[in-house]
Amino acid sequence: MPDLMDGVANFRRDVFPAKARLFARLATEHRPTTLFIGCSDARVVPELITRSEPGELFVIRTAGNLVPAHSPAPDGTAASIEFAVAVLGVRDIIVCGHSGCGAMTALAEGRDLSGTPRLASWLRHADASLARAAAGEGTGEVTALVRANVSAQLRNLTTHPAVARALAEQRLTLHGWVFDIGSGSVGRLETPDRAGV
Ligand SMILES: [Zn+2]
Repeated sequence: MPDLMDGVANFRRDVFPAKARLFARLATEHRPTTLFIGCSDARVVPELITRSEPGELFVIRTAGNLVPAHSPAPDGTAASIEFAVAVLGVRDIIVCGHSGCGAMTALAEGRDLSGTPRLASWLRHADASLARAAAGEGTGEVTALVRANVSAQLRNLTTHPAVARALAEQRLTLHGWVFDIGSGSVGRLETPDRAGV
């Protein structure tokens, strides 16, 4: 493992001093404007690709950027969504998929996930994504599934009561993105407000 404490020392020495006033404010203030839901993939770094500063993004990262639909059962993702929308009052939610997603590739290629039963179970939250991709005309199976999955997860988001309420009161906007790792570009998808996701 690389010595991450070297990175911490570097941060304290070279980065923190330049942002000391920002961190002093953030020590007592947490008012992000955007909830970013991305994949846990190490190559997709929300603050880097959006050039966001500390305090600006409330981030949830899950395997395959999946957002389970609302259910009464305890759910950490749902709790974080509710906190971001109902308490922090974020104005925008981005669901961001990405090229080369391992989760989407496993699903698109029908890989045997019996050795990782928790992952297999989690990826069932992409069942609707698979159905959408199968019905569409994608440029490639994984690419089509990544896009369909972002749309499906945006739809799942709308089942969460806090999100549904904020959308009804027109104080929240949903966005679908796909980050291309090789080129660094971000493609934007049609969102529920415009396309009836
Ligand atoms: Zn991924």
